[in-house]
Amino acid sequence: MDFLIATHNMKKRNELQRILEPLGVNVLTAEQAGISLTDVEETGTTFEENAALKAHSGAKESGMPTIADDSGLMVDALNGEPGVYSARYAGDHGNDEKNIDKLLKNLEGVEAEKRTARFVSAVCCVFPDGREFTVRGECEGLIAFERHGNGGFGYDPVFMVDGVSFGELSAQQKDKLSHRGNALRKLAEKLPQYLEK
Ligand code: IMP
Repeated sequence: MDFLIATHNMKKRNELQRILEPLGVNVLTAEQAGISLTDVEETGTTFEENAALKAHSGAKESGMPTIADDSGLMVDALNGEPGVYSARYAGDHGNDEKNIDKLLKNLEGVEAEKRTARFVSAVCCVFPDGREFTVRGECEGLIAFERHGNGGFGYDPVFMVDGVSFGELSAQQKDKLSHRGNALRKLAEKLPQYLEK
């Protein structure tokens, strides 16, 4: 069975594809499925709600089982911000550089031990017959004082795990640790029970 990945974010799409394929889940991008996806307004207040909005919209438009991720960074010293607004933190949708600048500015004066944070990924899978489930993955880390490395996307250059930023890791190293890797491994575990019916 082929699954549609409902996202316009190329970097995220690549991660979803590269993690799910070795787990035996065949995924197609909208282009590969020959459809164009509407840009869904993320009106939810939780990652789970927004992932469901995107997966339902993709399933409706494609008629295919659809997988969507909603993710973000929660920083303890900022009361969980930027959270579901991670992509739009600096106002300009998807501008990673400005988002990081704003994050570092808001954390000015916060000492190393208090810069705790986690990445969260909620992944929703919707089937054309209406069945659905959502899984959540997290990854704990610390926000650096400056950028390290230029791999990955989003806040990767300032998200540190064991002294190394996600921006310095190879794709494989990131996938082993990441919120998205953790969520998608749970998804792959759950899928068989939905495919039997
Ligand atoms: P959305 O799920 O499309 O609403 O956006 C998620 C946003 O959270 C991205 O634009 C990034 O700013 C951030 N984000 C989510 N996952 C990651 C990641 O793996 N690395 C870095 N930033 C991420």
